[in-house]
Amino acid sequence: MNYYSTNRQAPVVTLEEAVLKGLAEDRGLYMPEKINILPDDFFENISKLTFREMSLVVASAFFGEEIEQTALKEIVDDTLSFETPLVPVKDSIYSLELFHGPTLAFKDVGARFMARLLGYFIKKQGIKDDIIVLVATSGDTGSAVANGFLDVDGINVYVLYPKGKVSAIQECQFTTLGKNITALEIDGTFDDCQALVKAAFLDSELNEKLRLTSANSINVARFLPQAFYYFNAYAQLCRAGVKGDIVVCVPSGNFGNLTAGLIAHKMGLPIKRFIAANNQNDIFLQYLLTGIYRPQPSIQTLANAMDVGNPSNFVRILDLYDHNHSTITQLISGYCCPDDFIRQTVKTCYEETGYLLDPHGACGYSALSENLRTNETGVFLETAHPAKFKDTIEDIIQDTVEIPERLQEFMKGQKQSISLGKDFQGFKDYLVRK
Ligand SMILES: *Cc1c(COP(=O)(O)O)cnc(C)c1O
Repeated sequence: MNYYSTNRQAPVVTLEEAVLKGLAEDRGLYMPEKINILPDDFFENISKLTFREMSLVVASAFFGEEIEQTALKEIVDDTLSFETPLVPVKDSIYSLELFHGPTLAFKDVGARFMARLLGYFIKKQGIKDDIIVLVATSGDTGSAVANGFLDVDGINVYVLYPKGKVSAIQECQFTTLGKNITALEIDGTFDDCQALVKAAFLDSELNEKLRLTSANSINVARFLPQAFYYFNAYAQLCRAGVKGDIVVCVPSGNFGNLTAGLIAHKMGLPIKRFIAANNQNDIFLQYLLTGIYRPQPSIQTLANAMDVGNPSNFVRILDLYDHNHSTITQLISGYCCPDDFIRQTVKTCYEETGYLLDPHGACGYSALSENLRTNETGVFLETAHPAKFKDTIEDIIQDTVEIPERLQEFMKGQKQSISLGKDFQGFKDYLVRK
């Protein structure tokens, strides 16, 4: 299957080109040319399938023409080394826990899949030069990408992060790995890190010498596999005998996660409607209300992985529904959860149900609590483990939050990082010398 650019000014490309390029030349985002509807009997029997089995069916619908079934099965099985359990929280509200992967956030799924897919292409094509993955991070993306790509032959990852601006828990997840992962501690802000990565992709000399690629959520290999766990949520609802209309609420920043859910819906997954939960950065909600998309500088909030003022995947949503505002508002509603709501929601939910939310999941839970109608069952995506935001959560609930063992393991490791300034020449010299 080929991939087209949402701007439609660039040629269609193969899966491999779309993955290696990330962004199309016309600065559009790649989309699959076809979204296959899955057969009725797949949905009728889904409750009998394992997470890996149903995900292979979904993956085949996208990647089955390019990758032989045995190789694809290996990629899927290897990616999904953990479950995404559906946990009842209150009344008809369920939490789809996406934090059981190595770095305790949903980004593990997309990052692991992309790493394995790239590894497959490298082997198959006999690509000789190492592929260099550059990723700028304010915390979560760096850890998921670094861990996803760890030990994948032929790929070197450079994680750029702002010195002194990433929490210790986050930092240890990408600075202690070694091997093919290098952490670059930049004397600047997250925006400086992102500017360095962007400048590297635009530098023709660098691109002649090195094979550069990016691993952020605009990459099709990162965002499409996120459809897998929407099917898994549905299978678990079927097993629990839940009837009625299903509403899925997605805490959203760059909107990659929601877009994957919309794609699952287009493949036939019976979801009645979606809610996009924003924090104070509610550009999408404003679009739904007014029909006008007006990017804003991002505001810092407690749900910091959603502090996005110009969501990169918004164009994909427009593209999926032919830019039709009324089609979009019929299927998706919006929600804004300011910091004081997040605090109140984490506290109340913990006291009333014993379930501990993280600040991002809290936006989702809050949206469902206020918007669910009778006869509807709500599922919110719990996108990260609360322990990743230990200080914030402990301050809210006035209780200690236990750090899971796999997170503690990272904290035992030795920090290794290379300090660089925020000037491009220094960064470029470093990459060329490597
Ligand atoms: C990245 C992230 C989000 C936002 O996901 P998008 O796909 O960018 O909308 C939400 N919660 C957590 C914990 C994240 O790391």
